[in-house]
Amino acid sequence: MNENALCWLNGTLLPLSAASIPVNDHGLLYGDGVFEGIRIYGRRAFRLQRHLDRLVLSARAIALNIPYGCDDLTAAIQQLIDAFDAESGYIRVMVTRGPGSLGLNPKGCEQPNMIIIADQLSMVDQTSREQGARLIISSVRRLPADGLDPRIKSLNYLNHILAKIEANHAGVDEAVLLNAQGRVAEGTADNIFIVRDACLLTPPCTEGALEGITRELILDLAEAAGIEVRVQPLGVYDLYAADECFLTGTGAELIPVASIDQRRIGQCPGPIFRKLQQDFAAVVAAECQR
Ligand code: PMP
Repeated sequence: MNENALCWLNGTLLPLSAASIPVNDHGLLYGDGVFEGIRIYGRRAFRLQRHLDRLVLSARAIALNIPYGCDDLTAAIQQLIDAFDAESGYIRVMVTRGPGSLGLNPKGCEQPNMIIIADQLSMVDQTSREQGARLIISSVRRLPADGLDPRIKSLNYLNHILAKIEANHAGVDEAVLLNAQGRVAEGTADNIFIVRDACLLTPPCTEGALEGITRELILDLAEAAGIEVRVQPLGVYDLYAADECFLTGTGAELIPVASIDQRRIGQCPGPIFRKLQQDFAAVVAAECQR
């Protein structure tokens, strides 16, 4: 935690170190809640409306009422950014089911907690960001859509955390989760892309990936740049055989991949990655520079 980190908690702005919620909140007891991660660039929240829209849909899917409207949340985030002592950073928005009894039934949870944190976030070290991240294929599978739809950005990340622990134990940067059928889903907190024969490929979200906002932008940028794009199921072999591979996410931004299960990826960073990274930076500059 950065000492300048701030928290907007149910309408009150305070230092993150001073923010607290009851320990019987079902967000803590059961991971019952939803969240978003948003980047601040040039003191502006990047693609804020997209993130708020996804938060609202995640909350609706788990039958959770967000106690504030989108305008209130936008104002709260602006208040946090104005008070936050940095040009760039990361915002975490969380809505928990709120305090209740020890049983899992959310019926008695009457007051959701609305928590917004402004801090810094770094997903991988600078060397991996520049020279490429090393990945493993995790033995932990992505939860199936008929268990928990991957489009819901819930506080339940335990299988992603187990995959990350596996990556830590293997001494690498990140893990790829497969779906129950053994096809590629996504990283622990990022979407995955490959390039093969100058064509950009990523799995459809129905394969077990979050509908990433960075993923969506990268697909748009690739099309605009005249790069052939295919959203199609991918196997582990496709990752090993890739000419290029990279990860996308709000926290991750764009990270080139150097190896997967110790198989070196063709080029890292490759030319398509570089082009998309440049175009991504241009969009950020256009939307967030005053
Ligand atoms: N997948 C998962 C599981 C994530 O947590 C994230 C981060 N939000 C992503 C993908 C990337 O999504 P986005 O680009 O919207 O941050």
